[in-house]
Amino acid sequence: MFLFIIMHDFKYKDNQLYCEGIKIQDLVNRFGSPLYVYSYNTLIDHFLKLKIAFGEIEPLICYSVKANSNLAILKAVVDKGAGLDIVSGGELFYALKANCPPDRIVYASVGKTEKEIEEAIKRKILFFNVESLPELQSIQRIAKKLKKIVNIAIRINPDIEPMTHKYITTGKLTNKFGIDFDTASKIFLQRSKFPNLNICGIHIHIGSQIIDSRPFVCALKKISNYIEFLKKNNIRIEYLNIGGGLGIIYNKEKPQTAKSFALSILPLLKNFDGKLILEPGRFIVGNAGILVTKILYIKTTPLKKFIIVDAGMNDLIRPALYGAYHQISPLNKKNKKGPLQKVDVVGPICESADFFAKDRLLPQLEEGEYLAIFGAGAYGFSMSSNYNGRLKPPEVLVKGKVAKLIRRRQNYFDLIREQI
Ligand code: PLP
Repeated sequence: MFLFIIMHDFKYKDNQLYCEGIKIQDLVNRFGSPLYVYSYNTLIDHFLKLKIAFGEIEPLICYSVKANSNLAILKAVVDKGAGLDIVSGGELFYALKANCPPDRIVYASVGKTEKEIEEAIKRKILFFNVESLPELQSIQRIAKKLKKIVNIAIRINPDIEPMTHKYITTGKLTNKFGIDFDTASKIFLQRSKFPNLNICGIHIHIGSQIIDSRPFVCALKKISNYIEFLKKNNIRIEYLNIGGGLGIIYNKEKPQTAKSFALSILPLLKNFDGKLILEPGRFIVGNAGILVTKILYIKTTPLKKFIIVDAGMNDLIRPALYGAYHQISPLNKKNKKGPLQKVDVVGPICESADFFAKDRLLPQLEEGEYLAIFGAGAYGFSMSSNYNGRLKPPEVLVKGKVAKLIRRRQNYFDLIREQI
């Protein structure tokens, strides 16, 4: 039997929450609240789990920058051999700043601008994941102007239901992403019309937080049949990019492990002789981060008890955006033996969507104490904003007994820096 426990280095010792070898209360005392805390060990452990699971075919694992784009996080995975999956000129800038070799960078997005395409070609990235015919024509035009030959993977939309939230479903024909099989075939069969493009790859990414392997298997079956069809037409696929999307445990999910994912995928690739690429984001960094927040007020109304904290939806938007669940616990569990109480944990922002938990059973809490919001490593800080004039929190990376500030807290001048 599988034991599904959250694998991370945030653990209680003597009722105090630690990240690796450091008590989180000490980090709050040093860096204030709200505060993002990441575990280096958890981050690298998840990267290595995938690397080992797919070890026999030595894939290129391109960590998805959008999940968490702090340069220290990017550097940590790049140093372990990861490539990066980017979606904008800004993310290309991050990737290069993190010293990612350009031949380990892949670039998706339905709306790449001419400027972004030109920069990526000049930097010699590994390939573009192309999402439409007009985009392909645009890349051809720019490559010709620059007198370059550019690698292309066609992002196929395999029309698969990934059984996840509709906002993070990307592989159905009603979604804006990718190219349908018929249009892709026209492109492959008429590839001589694009003399500056080496159309040598296929890309899919069917969605995010997918906990079941079946949608991946379904999509990959379609793709491996398609690769056979191309082979019969003398078209060889050098790169197969199967995207990201692996789900993680936020609450009681039972997602596939890296090993079981690889076991379900690898048999479908036995006839594929090119390079496999993966683009995981959430799987690598999701459970490697928490958001720490202070209880400002406890407000009781005739119907509810609100725990009002100093973090808001601007810091972590997932509950507001997707109704996402995040585990929440006090940093200090001492004297928390009494009965649980049903509460809403909410932020200070002027929106009723500004919550972290609704009708959640938590121990008796007091004003001034701190809570940890778990599973905040992916799509946490990277989706944060200054809404309501709120300063973005700092980020701290812990490795063993060493904590490094990897982003300082914003100040009021940061709020107006770009204004003229
Ligand atoms: N690749 C592409 C093209 C994506 O759009 C995304 C997420 O949106 C990812 C990879 C990473 O997905 P995840 O974080 O679910 O692994």
